[in-house]
Amino acid sequence: MAVDRVLLASPRGFCAGVEMAIKALSWMVRLCDPPIYCYHEIVHNQLVVDRFRALGVRFVDDLSEVPEGASIMLSAHGSPPEVVSEARRHGGVVVDAVCPLVTKVHHEFKLRAEQGFTVVYVGHDGHDEAVGAMAIAPASARLVQSANDVLTMDAPNTPIAVLTQTTLSEDEWSGVRQSVIDRFGDVWTPGRSDLCFATTNRQAALKRIVHQVDAVVVIGSANSSNTLALVHVAQASGVQVHRVNGPDELPASLTGTIGVTAGASAPDELVAAVISALAPANGVTEVTATDEDEYFPLPRELRDAVHAITTVVAKSLDAPTSQGNDDRTVTASSVLETL
Ligand code: SF4
Repeated sequence: MAVDRVLLASPRGFCAGVEMAIKALSWMVRLCDPPIYCYHEIVHNQLVVDRFRALGVRFVDDLSEVPEGASIMLSAHGSPPEVVSEARRHGGVVVDAVCPLVTKVHHEFKLRAEQGFTVVYVGHDGHDEAVGAMAIAPASARLVQSANDVLTMDAPNTPIAVLTQTTLSEDEWSGVRQSVIDRFGDVWTPGRSDLCFATTNRQAALKRIVHQVDAVVVIGSANSSNTLALVHVAQASGVQVHRVNGPDELPASLTGTIGVTAGASAPDELVAAVISALAPANGVTEVTATDEDEYFPLPRELRDAVHAITTVVAKSLDAPTSQGNDDRTVTASSVLETL
């Protein structure tokens, strides 16, 4: 490799929802008797999943694999209502780490279905988030992935609402939404799209650098939708794109100026390792599209327990006790490194 310069997109990597989910599972590892069971991957990143697996967390796709009374975490992508109920029936500690922005879509889904709408949901078939959302009101839901799906779906005899998976690319979402409007005319859509701030901010940052580079490296897993959305954004600009899980997968042919970004579930340490492997002769320039300061607190099931413990520890050390449960100064990346 003869890389001259790296343009590093900002924001990139962990979003507020992923930060919250990783910190929550870390607290469960410390507080609950092992093994802890996590329904689906806590976030779609192999390094994160492997690190928790090494600490004894067991990832399952079916709650029948979980013994009665065991502690269960539900992933950030949002779980079907029957899975949440089933987890609570197991009798152990249950922490739902669903991202609040996914919960917002679930609420809207439920409301529109109750009002008699057919909800056309734009999402990736089989993705955990899409499965969880479609399960909110399956009888009223239609999953579409493309404009062609819209053209071939049955025409419902009800008003239509359009909702979407939070992690699609803007182009992907807006094209399908327009197809729904073109076919059915008067449809209800949210005032702001359901695409989350993290998804749109990472895409905006990538768009800032994509025309200044010889190739783009997107760090993230193949099952991470927002990572694939970044790949689509780069491909749409015509630049060469490489999605990698980590530095070992970088192609040896990279030369010139390389753009680097990372999906919302990719840890900082992977970004640092990729930049180190690229070894740019003229250094790294960070290009910032916007500052991101969103913060999601721990799930409420954990907040009180964590506050009680940190208060007791602070008192025993004669240290000042914190007000509330604000852990925003602690990053999930630093938590992961200390696990
Ligand atoms: Fe939440 Fe968006 Fe992060 Fe998904 S990508 S966890 S919706 S903030």
